[in-house]
Amino acid sequence: MADTIVAANWKMHKTTGQAIEFACGLKDVLFKKPVSATVVIAPPFTSIEALGVEFKDSGIFLAAQNMHEASHGAYTGEISGKMLTAAGCRYCILGHSERRRIFGEGNALINAKIIAALTCGLMPIFCIGETLAERESGAMFTVLTGQLKEGLNKVTVDDIQKIIVAYEPVWAIGTGKTAATGQIQEAHLFIRNLLSEMYGTTAAAAISIIYGGSVTPANIGSLMAEKEINGVLVGSASLDLGSFLEIIYFQ
Ligand code: PEP
Repeated sequence: MADTIVAANWKMHKTTGQAIEFACGLKDVLFKKPVSATVVIAPPFTSIEALGVEFKDSGIFLAAQNMHEASHGAYTGEISGKMLTAAGCRYCILGHSERRRIFGEGNALINAKIIAALTCGLMPIFCIGETLAERESGAMFTVLTGQLKEGLNKVTVDDIQKIIVAYEPVWAIGTGKTAATGQIQEAHLFIRNLLSEMYGTTAAAAISIIYGGSVTPANIGSLMAEKEINGVLVGSASLDLGSFLEIIYFQ
């Protein structure tokens, strides 16, 4: 059975001081009242090491928001997967629509990053999703198929178990426009069926497929009531501790 994941993507927000303050507050609450979901925080690179110390043995896990596909070398300004695991990361968000759109990352590069992450023991949170224009022109399933098949090129059946797929329709990210639960169910079922074709039904059933796009305390209950939604990736609403706590204690 797929695990339930609640992951916070802080994007380019919070200084290390602000990140530590949030982390201490989160840790205190979780210590007193454990949650059943796996809680993951993806801070900016500058806070990873400090939060690695804060979260040690806390049951809260760290993710990076990006990484370079090479293991090391002359890549000024870049960070490798090995550096991230050494700093305490368990996961790495890859294929986020902001990386695709703003930084021009395509499926082949994302695939290289996924392979590199797996090689150094990082679990990819692999984001896919269509734009509004793609949805409206009827290209949504073709786009999702390309992103999944090309992004997972050469990923083995053993390694697919280490990947979380995040369905993030681009039109729902940071817009306040959450996708309707029916739309999410349809996309998640499509993704799981495709994963079944690629890896077999048993392997596909164990993969967590999470949803991202304007998740808030107000809509988390209805999202998590859907059988095909195995968790959420939260941007804006994860920045405030109170709001993030309402999301993780959705039950
Ligand atoms: C995201 O960027 O992954 C995201 C889901 O953002 P938001 O929750 O702000 O839509």
